[in-house]
Amino acid sequence: MHPGPDGDPAAPGEPGVPAGAPANTTSGPLATARVRHAYRPRNWALWRRRPVQVAFMLVAEAVAVAILAVSFARSPIPSGNDWINFAILAAGATVHIQLTQRQEERRRNRTKTVLIDLTAVWTFSAAMILPVPLILSVIAVIRLQHWFIARRPAHNFIFSSITHGLAGALAHLTYTALGPHLLGRPGWGDFLREFGTIVVTGAIYEAIQIAYVGGVLLLGTPAGRTVRNVLGSPADNMLEAITIGLGAVTAILLAAVPPMVAVMAVVTVVFNRLAELDQLQNDVRTDPKTGILNMRGWSESAERALERTARSGDQLALLMVDLDHFKWINDTYGHPAGDDVLRTVAQTLDEVTRPSDLVGRFGGEEFLVLLPDIDEEATWDAAERIRIAIAKLHMVTTDKRGDPATIADRTTSIGVARHPRHGDTLERLLQSADAAVYLAKENGRDQVCFAPDTVTPPAGR
Ligand code: GH3
Ligand code: MG
Ligand code: MG
Repeated sequence: MHPGPDGDPAAPGEPGVPAGAPANTTSGPLATARVRHAYRPRNWALWRRRPVQVAFMLVAEAVAVAILAVSFARSPIPSGNDWINFAILAAGATVHIQLTQRQEERRRNRTKTVLIDLTAVWTFSAAMILPVPLILSVIAVIRLQHWFIARRPAHNFIFSSITHGLAGALAHLTYTALGPHLLGRPGWGDFLREFGTIVVTGAIYEAIQIAYVGGVLLLGTPAGRTVRNVLGSPADNMLEAITIGLGAVTAILLAAVPPMVAVMAVVTVVFNRLAELDQLQNDVRTDPKTGILNMRGWSESAERALERTARSGDQLALLMVDLDHFKWINDTYGHPAGDDVLRTVAQTLDEVTRPSDLVGRFGGEEFLVLLPDIDEEATWDAAERIRIAIAKLHMVTTDKRGDPATIADRTTSIGVARHPRHGDTLERLLQSADAAVYLAKENGRDQVCFAPDTVTPPAGR
């Protein structure tokens, strides 16, 4: 699942979400007043969402509560064994949550990070092995502890708790409907059938989360409505699939040797740390302001692309994109507006290039684009496409007083260096592209210039 341990359906920057700041950064008497007022129905963060989102959330919650009520009422009375299994899962989840609490708090203080929520290990195993009332109890034990750690707006929290409950209950109904289950009995035919049943159950569990959380994002602001946000990134979904797999393993352990579930508590804590490590590795390569590669990440990938090009004998181009008179934007509209422009330009570069091209932020208002496997004419076209795309942007931002402002007609100077003509190392290519940018500035800006070349003049110039 993507948006979160709270299934937090709000992308950063969306209304109702304390973007860039934890929800509880407030302190002092003023803050206390604000917190208290937030509990008044008319001050609820829920109303800062789009009306269509609010409607979706309320209807989805009503449907979920109805399904949960029916499945609760029709569920068999938990047996003594069910209660023991419940106690083991609740204890495992509590150990897991408490030992990863610090990590969860760190995450809360950052924005735009993938949410690592591995508690599905406990919820999914509960869904497989416990009756509905106890599945909901396991979820309640987990959610109560999350409430104190995650501190999200209450409506997000309630919505995602209900989503977890519905996913757990429907996964349970799917699993029991596909029974009888032969856990522990030998025979490959049975094993494969059981495996297939668990896969289907996991898919239902995940589908409910995507439908609920993705649904809210789909109805949100265009910025939050990317495929990646709505469906979750491949990495998020992989993490979720592994978590569900671990949940199934936990259920099997619980059926076979219950004390072994203690091992799963250790596994989830370690796995949580590994997942965070992966996230930190990504962060190290990313420019936090624009979300594209920073110089470190870009250089690593560019070096690899250059090696591949050298091996294959292909050509490659490097574009250095420098926004013209960017300082004027900062001076006129303020630095936050300048930052908005940088973000929009970064996004535009991503959009107008091929997926195999490497877009990165060189620093300040300079960007780099590496174009593998490209001839001279196509390089020229790509650079011109970028120059024109930026010139056409109408960027809505705020001025120094916080009033809405539109920044448009921005020009760009683009320097181009080609491999192997202008150099065969990244360093040489960067120097050549930089020299080409200066040439473009000298020639009056708003243009593409190839690096100075004594062999053949650049095509089209
Ligand atoms: P030129 O046409 O010659 O490129 O002029 P310029 O104003 O674009 O270039 P200059 O190098 O004079 O100024 C770059 C400015 O970019 C100065 C710096 O304050 C600003 N800048 C650098 N990084 C950031 C940033 O992250 N955010 C904002 N808002 N401004 C930045
Ligand atoms: Mg510059
Ligand atoms: Mg500039």
